[in-house]
Amino acid sequence: MGDGLVSTTFLSEFQQHFGAVAPRDLLQTRAPGRVNLIGEHTDYNDGFVLPIAIERHSTIVARPRLDASVRLYSLAREELAEFSLEQQVAKGAPGWSLYARGVAEALRAAGLVRHGVDALVASDIPLGGGLSSSASFEVAFALALLAANGQTLPPVQLAQACRWAENEYAGAPCGIMDQFISVLAEAGRAMLLDCRDLSYRQVPLRDPDIGIMVINSQVHHNLAQGQYALRRAQCRQAVDSLRADFPQITSLREVSGKMLAQGCSGELGRDKVVLRRAGHVVGENQRTLDFAAALERQDWHSCGELMYQSHQSLRDDYEVSCPELDVLVEIARSVPGVYGARMTGGGFGGCIVALTRREAGPRLAAAVQIEYPRRCGHKALLFLTEAAAGASVQRPSG
Ligand code: ADP
Ligand code: MG
Repeated sequence: MGDGLVSTTFLSEFQQHFGAVAPRDLLQTRAPGRVNLIGEHTDYNDGFVLPIAIERHSTIVARPRLDASVRLYSLAREELAEFSLEQQVAKGAPGWSLYARGVAEALRAAGLVRHGVDALVASDIPLGGGLSSSASFEVAFALALLAANGQTLPPVQLAQACRWAENEYAGAPCGIMDQFISVLAEAGRAMLLDCRDLSYRQVPLRDPDIGIMVINSQVHHNLAQGQYALRRAQCRQAVDSLRADFPQITSLREVSGKMLAQGCSGELGRDKVVLRRAGHVVGENQRTLDFAAALERQDWHSCGELMYQSHQSLRDDYEVSCPELDVLVEIARSVPGVYGARMTGGGFGGCIVALTRREAGPRLAAAVQIEYPRRCGHKALLFLTEAAAGASVQRPSG
């Protein structure tokens, strides 16, 4: 794709599902997935996260319609979804269309869109792999629908509309990180995002000697959802207990290591599990800030060490890892030239992310390809990525 032209593959796919079309009548949007380098399970505690956008995208090719119908074909699901913008958008089948329906409803209710689209969605992000195919789908679709209606939305509001869609229509209680980075990422930079007030700082991450490798365990354990709700409850419980000593606090974000130690003498000290959960969050917030500072100095050793510490804390104190993720991190640690690695995303499966000297990339890939199947019984998928740019719209060139 170049000069606003849609690739011939997408064009022929589009025509197969929606009939003949001139390329100049199509618009195309792209939104990246993401990988979180550090700051895990901190978002719902008003804390810090540090994601990058990856070089994997949802792509939407769309033709504006005169009426209010949306017809959306997913190449991944090989299925067509149809709904109308005439009234409040229905929460109908198929399940995957809820992400687009929610986005459409957010934009419709805001009075931004009246015209529907014929659209095709393609993705090279694994669906459900922890790299945020969902947020990238929402953002790409939102941009397509807005562009088809000659509208735009400020970036933060766009991210918020997409998050609303995921919470209210898809029923996933996610934070803002995924949509935020997909919209606002800049090439060659990681984003330190403060989930309390959405302030952020772009930290340079572009070094020809450095590689970021994403390794997909290809497992997804079912406990994830129930355990996620339980962790949130435990964090709230920790805050409630700590308020005996620190009545002003409203989240673990405001808690320091020293405050936690003091809180141990009270109610919090009697519940060792809740104490460990809180310990992870407090430590992880500090590690995320330390990582951003180390990144600024290009101190890769410190960055890597913080990633290992993060993994250990998620494994032992927050208890959201799983054997497959632990094995992948162990394999990474055994490869010379790897600075650090950790599970990334909610846990219980999904991916790890590793920071390596670039020349160590092939060694790491080879080690994973040999060791992981031997120890876990199946293959892992992996790829290298740079810190990619955020979502974009390409209009027909005329
Ligand atoms: P992740 O965001 O980590 O990939 P989620 O479970 O949050 O995992 O989101 C995955 C879901 O998003 C899919 O099961 C599907 O419903 C929806 N989705 C994402 N991309 C597409 C796509 N290209 N076509 C259809 N549905 C998609
Ligand atoms: Mg998701």
